[in-house]
Amino acid sequence: MIEKMSDDKLLKSVLLEVKKEKDQLHIVLLHLKEIYRRRLFTEYNRKTLNEYCVTELGYTRGEAYYRVTAMKLMANSDQIEKAIQKGELSLTAAVVAHDYLTKQPDKSVAKKEEVISKIVGVPISKAKEILSIAPSRPSHSQQKELAPKLKVSKKVLELLNELQDLTGEDQSKLLEVALESKLKQVRKCELKAIRRPSPVQSTRSRYIPQVIKRKIRKRASYTCEHVSMHRGRCTESRNLEFDHHAVPYSKGGKNTLDNLRLVCKNHNTRQFVLDFGAKSLEKNHAEKRARKQIS
Ligand SMILES: [Zn+2]
Repeated sequence: MIEKMSDDKLLKSVLLEVKKEKDQLHIVLLHLKEIYRRRLFTEYNRKTLNEYCVTELGYTRGEAYYRVTAMKLMANSDQIEKAIQKGELSLTAAVVAHDYLTKQPDKSVAKKEEVISKIVGVPISKAKEILSIAPSRPSHSQQKELAPKLKVSKKVLELLNELQDLTGEDQSKLLEVALESKLKQVRKCELKAIRRPSPVQSTRSRYIPQVIKRKIRKRASYTCEHVSMHRGRCTESRNLEFDHHAVPYSKGGKNTLDNLRLVCKNHNTRQFVLDFGAKSLEKNHAEKRARKQIS
């Protein structure tokens, strides 16, 4: 088909196909924006939209990073969205602008639009020149920096050194034994507390009694209790929170075993979207940002 096109038709056709390609990218970014608003990636037990793009949509890490960065850039600006839609702002240019903007103290939409207006429609080498930066890509070293680090005090190091001198055992093994012993002790106390009757709640309060918290943590086996639509039970065990699941607290939900569940931060946010909508979440975040700016 393409082989049989005349020169004139081929040149016209490629313009049309490129336009379709640009439109398609814009539509994909709009989908990603809405998936992010609803925190739908958590229904695949993915911690970030980037992770979801790689594992569920089949993008490479780089492709996902470029798309998510462009989506976030256009999120609150019609001007930037139009530039992407028209193909005047490429994904690479969006990442260049993003890298520049993260280093600026002014995080406002107006600043974003001012920067983008400088590089719209210009070749990428010129855009880098205008902003005087090189684009950064997600690297292994960056990922390492993001990994949680365990900080130990001088005292802990002294104790470990002394124990190692005395026993000749590996320091990580010594830490493991110490932690296991502490955990055993804590679990014993928890069991005793669970056997004690729960205090009766006289007034309605957000405060969740320790005994209820312990029971829920135990029921949850210390991992997030959310069962996602597509990937089943979440396995996150860090930064867990208590969520009024069946009936939200603001709608009269009680601090009972049936109404509460242990969830990770992402699934707590997802539940908020399900209970109150993505708009309420955005409003909360906007208010938080405003309070930060005042203080
Ligand atoms: Zn979770």
